[in-house]
Amino acid sequence: MERTMNEKKAVSLALLELNNKVKNQDLASASILPVWRRLWLDIKCNGGEMDFIQENSSVMIEVALKLANLKYDIILIHIDSFIPNWLFPFIKLLHNTDQSIDIFLCGFIPTVKCGELAEALPEVHAVISGPLESSMEIIYNRIGITFRPYEVKDISAVDQSVFKDLFLKDSVGLIQASAGCPMTCSFCRYSSLYHRYYKGVYEQFPIDNIVSEILELNRKFNISHFKFIDSNFLGCGKMAYKRAVDLASSLQAKGLDITCEMHCRSDMVQTDIISQLVKCGLRHLSIGIESMSQNQLDRFGKKETVMDHRSAKELTVKHGISVQGYAILADPLVTREELLENLSGLYELSEEVLFIINEKMILYSTTDYYKKYHSLLSGLKPFKVSLGTAFDYSFKDKWCIENFGIFQKASLLLKYKIRTLPLSYSPFVSFADNYLYIKKATSHKIQLLMRIVSENKPDESKVMLWCNEALKKIEELLTSYNELKVIK
Ligand code: SF4
Repeated sequence: MERTMNEKKAVSLALLELNNKVKNQDLASASILPVWRRLWLDIKCNGGEMDFIQENSSVMIEVALKLANLKYDIILIHIDSFIPNWLFPFIKLLHNTDQSIDIFLCGFIPTVKCGELAEALPEVHAVISGPLESSMEIIYNRIGITFRPYEVKDISAVDQSVFKDLFLKDSVGLIQASAGCPMTCSFCRYSSLYHRYYKGVYEQFPIDNIVSEILELNRKFNISHFKFIDSNFLGCGKMAYKRAVDLASSLQAKGLDITCEMHCRSDMVQTDIISQLVKCGLRHLSIGIESMSQNQLDRFGKKETVMDHRSAKELTVKHGISVQGYAILADPLVTREELLENLSGLYELSEEVLFIINEKMILYSTTDYYKKYHSLLSGLKPFKVSLGTAFDYSFKDKWCIENFGIFQKASLLLKYKIRTLPLSYSPFVSFADNYLYIKKATSHKIQLLMRIVSENKPDESKVMLWCNEALKKIEELLTSYNELKVIK
């Protein structure tokens, strides 16, 4: 945070990103969004300063005093889904110490709680509503720089070793190629935010700009692996094929030989699209599978079928692309049959797909699921941690009412063990082995969960016995990696 004040009358800005606890332990470049990279470049190229402030709740009061002493013009606080206890006193102290600092809040919570935050924090200069892509315009206006969101920035004008240290520490180039998502899955708070607050709902940024940014990072910093951070890189329908073709031909025209990873929907994993993406060096896909029960997919408004998921798996295997899938096991209206059907389907895919599993759908009041089904739901209890707009709920299904507790306990126990067991071993030598371990261990976990749901009345002691059996398999898996040794 040490810096000397700029001689020129240019702006100095400090960015504090909240709710990225794990990432914030070491502000890895992976935690710095492309939107902040662009802001940093714009400020630097206009003679200003921008610093990234580490969140550390135990010393935030000291940080406030330090920030005030450093005489920043602007403190920008980005809040995603949780307001920590220290934030209000932090802002008040900051303001009382130096009233000339303009404090801005932006992000998901400031968007949905705009009025309340502005009232509770009169010290704040502005609480900005909307997704980052649109709220940045207000910050740029304050700084006095013209906002051109998708313009390629010239890196030559800045200290390139500082740029590399800040944004390319992990040797992965993060690229944002779009904003929002055209779909309206009923559980997705991200989509509802963009549908409500982003003009045009979904926007694909010009491919020429994206490829020029890739070229710049590749030629100047030798970055050859890129991660598209978009929630939906391809979009949907016909636009997806065009997007893939445009990216492939533009990379080829620039002579770029890179590898990449992205997130997309499984119904867009089609032969012609994947063939184009393979030309772009696609190595890894993440896909929102959500469920392998068609009834659940319909309630989730996914507009996809379980066959889409199966065929996405087949195609990615065929092209040697690794896949990470996201799944939700239970929503308030799930039945035991659907739960079993979902788990069986996930188990079938888990041979090839690494699953990240959410046991229970988070029911946000802003989502279509809540709007559509809330009159059918029972036991709704709002909980305050996240905006006061999420609900705990009871299930409708008798088996779920009686047994979901032990089912969830077993799932969470295995999740914890899969994460922590490797700590007793010497570290994985390769990322690929770690990926394989988690994939296979999660497959064992899904098998255990199927066993629980197959039982009419699974009692706790029996379930814990099964958990131990599954854990044994997971330990055997760990020791099967040649390079792994138990740490004595
Ligand atoms: S496709 Fe993904 S980002 Fe888009 S609405 Fe559905 S869950 Fe949300």
